[in-house]
Order: sequence, then C-alpha cells, then structure tokens
Amino acid sequence: MPAPQHTSSVDLAARLKVLARSCVVVAVTPLSPSLVEVVLRGDAVDLAGVAGNDVMVLVHDGDIAIRRRYTVRALDPEEDTFSLWISLTHDGPASRWARHAHVGDVVDIVGPRGKIFLEESADWHLFIGDVSSLGAFYRLAQSIETPGRAIFIVEIDDPVDALTATFDEELGVTAIFVDRNGRGHDDPAGLLSGLAALTLPPDEGHAYLFGEFHVMRTLKSALLDRGLNATQVSLKAFYRIGQSNGPNGEPSKDD
Ligand SMILES: Cc1cc2nc3c(=O)[nH]c(=O)nc-3n(C[C@H](O)[C@H](O)[C@H](O)COP(=O)(O)OP(=O)(O)OC[C@H]3O[C@@H](n4cnc5c(N)ncnc54)[C@H](O)[C@@H]3O)c2cc1C
Repeated sequence: MPAPQHTSSVDLAARLKVLARSCVVVAVTPLSPSLVEVVLRGDAVDLAGVAGNDVMVLVHDGDIAIRRRYTVRALDPEEDTFSLWISLTHDGPASRWARHAHVGDVVDIVGPRGKIFLEESADWHLFIGDVSSLGAFYRLAQSIETPGRAIFIVEIDDPVDALTATFDEELGVTAIFVDRNGRGHDDPAGLLSGLAALTLPPDEGHAYLFGEFHVMRTLKSALLDRGLNATQVSLKAFYRIGQSNGPNGEPSKDD
C-alpha cells in the first residue's frame, strides 16, 4: 500500500490513535440522482471499524487540503474494500470530488472515526435523517441482533433516492420516505410529519439523528416531547445549511 499522500494525515492519525492510509478507488456507482457509492480498497477491516464509524477523506478546495467525513456503508473483508454513500445534493469540495472520482484514484484516508454506535440493549432502533445518512443507517441496522426492529424516517430529494437494503428476515423493518417537495435542507417539516405518522413501539428504544444541524436539533426536541429521554437519542450534525464544514470535516456547533 502506498504511503499516505499528506504528512498531516500521519500526524492527525497519531494524535487520534487511528490509521492514515492511501486507499485506491475500485468502483464508483451512481445509486440515485442524489447519491453515489465510492468503493475504496486498502486496510479495509481496520479503517471501516464497526457500524457507525466514519472515515476522513482528504479533498482539495482549490490549493487547500481539507478533510470531509463519510460514514462507512459496508465492509468486504475478502476484497479488502469498504464503501461510502456520498450525497450529491449540494455543491462543495467533497461532493465535487465524489462526482468526479475515478477507478484507480488514490485517496488519503484517516480512520476509523466516530463515537455513535448501535445501542445494543435497545428493543427498537429509530433512524431519522436525509440521504446523507442513509449509508450510516443501513450499516447500523444490518448490525442489529435479531429479533429486533429498525424504523427509518428519511427525507429524500428524488423518489429514486428511496434506496433499499437487505436485512435479516427476522428483523422487523419499517421505512417512511418523505419527499422533500422543494423544502430547504434546514426545514424540519418533512421529517416532523414522518415522525408524527409513526406510533412508537412500546419498550425501550434508541433514536439516531444524523443530518442537518438545525433539523436534527428540532427532531431531538420532538422525540423528547414524545417521551424519549436524552440518553435514548444519539445526535450527530453532518452539515449545517449555508456553511461549509470546517477543514476537520465538522459543522460549526455555535448557536
Ligand atoms: C461524522 C460524519 C459522518 C458523515 N457521513 C456522511 C455520509 O456517510 N454521507 C454523506 O453524504 N455525508 C456524510 N456526512 C456529511 C458530509 O461530511 C458533509 O455533507 C460535508 O459538508 C460535505 O462536504 P462538501 O465539501 O461537499 O461541502 P461543504 O463545503 O461542507 O458545504 C458546501 C455547502 O453545501 C451545504 N451542504 C453540505 N453538505 C450538504 C448536504 N449533505 N446536503 C445539503 N447541503 C449540504 C453546506 O451547508 C454549504 O452551504 C458526514 C458528516 C459527519 C460529520
């Protein structure tokens, strides 16, 4: 495997106690108008970690190298590959990188990252987000020990974005795909209506909220109003409308 392209990646990975590797793009597959799958080869088992983990991808914004985070969708240990599902619904350095990625490209990766994992003790798992969170949700749901229940409420930009996945047949699965219908990415109305349509199952559940900063905050409040307590909600802002994520790949947390 070639050395990482950027020395800063080696330093960053040492600080974070994770890996810095150069991976090779082995497939680029458009999945829908809003999502492309990029498959990378190289140290896949270690970089992909466990369900919920993401990797930092080094991309270029003009002459400046910045990092963007993408959650691992799936791991194939035999092929030494892992895949990312990348949203193309906006224009940014990373969406441009994904749009123009080619087989054979070498990509600087730091990982695994992330602190949100499956809450194993939960009887049901509720995943709420948009197309950028679909890959994360499907890997998490595929790691649920059966019998169990996965519920998805996902806002989509195009009907074809309602991509499905294969789950253990003993897993109960409910999916609500909400059409965006021209609403902004910072408008929570669509996901709130999806949540309102859902009767939460009895017993103990856990919710995973991945998506736009303001929308996810609003959905967390709605879940608390529905009787979940804060420890039952894992929230990760993936991006913040109108602002680029920082060079470390994180959206601003300022109010
Ligand atoms: C831990 C973590 C895991 C993530 N996993 C995934 C993943 O698996 N798949 C995925 O697609 N994204 C994922 N994201 C989100 C992704 O990193 C951001 O969307 C990132 O901002 C894209 O970078 P960019 O350079 O294209 O755009 P930026 O330069 O960050 O932003 C440019 C403009 O586009 C807007 N924008 C950015 N992202 C979006 C979006 N998704 N939808 C609408 N508008 C947007 C911004 O508000 C800004 O106005 C993750 C983020 C984090 C923090």
